[in-house]
Amino acid sequence: MIDFHCHLDLYEDPMKVFDEVKGRKTEVLAVTTSPRAFVKTSQYFKGSNNVRVALGFHPELVKQRFSEKELFFEQMKSARFLGEIGIDGSQRARQSISEQIEFFDEVLHTAAVYGGKVLSIHSRGAVKEVLQILGKHEGKYVAVLHWFTGSAKDAEKAVELGCWFSVNPNMCFTATGKKVIGCIPLDRMLPETDAPFTQKDGVPYMPWDTTVTSYFAKENSIGIDDMNELFHRNLQALINTK
Ligand SMILES: [Zn+2]
Repeated sequence: MIDFHCHLDLYEDPMKVFDEVKGRKTEVLAVTTSPRAFVKTSQYFKGSNNVRVALGFHPELVKQRFSEKELFFEQMKSARFLGEIGIDGSQRARQSISEQIEFFDEVLHTAAVYGGKVLSIHSRGAVKEVLQILGKHEGKYVAVLHWFTGSAKDAEKAVELGCWFSVNPNMCFTATGKKVIGCIPLDRMLPETDAPFTQKDGVPYMPWDTTVTSYFAKENSIGIDDMNELFHRNLQALINTK
């Protein structure tokens, strides 16, 4: 199974989840929310073939943890995967939107200079802003829009910009989520959980969860193993992108 956006370090018992992910060989993009968290999680998964740790700076934390900005750009030199990064325009985070936009723009500019980075991007309540900045630095990295909540038109624009998408179980159960999913080409899509923030009956999804894969298997009238294989081919294609 694949989980291309999971906060492994934020589960109640991270060590237990870490070990199980290793044991099950689940392919995980372990996103982090601050440069310090990236250092810690990277140490644990050093040498792992199935867990890639992404350097993140959650948009909601950008203003309050401004002092870690330098550390972020230092680590960015060697980190191939970035996330979670992006812009959050929801009510709670809106007061820092100008700092978020400035930081995100600088990160994308830097990613474009280095080349070859893979980015897991947060765009809650700020889809237009995110797409606008992506458009400025088009084609210099792979942008994966995680839990995309834009309109069908926004999704089409993102596809035109070359974006990929990671889809979580919540998106498969809501009318708006399904609408977005319908606009995404199957070869630009990967499953995610965004756990522990997504839950089923009060219990966080686990990285090896099959909900998204089952949903797409049913939608495309193929078996779950075939669907899983297709997602693995997508992952390989994404990783091989230069
Ligand atoms: Zn997340």
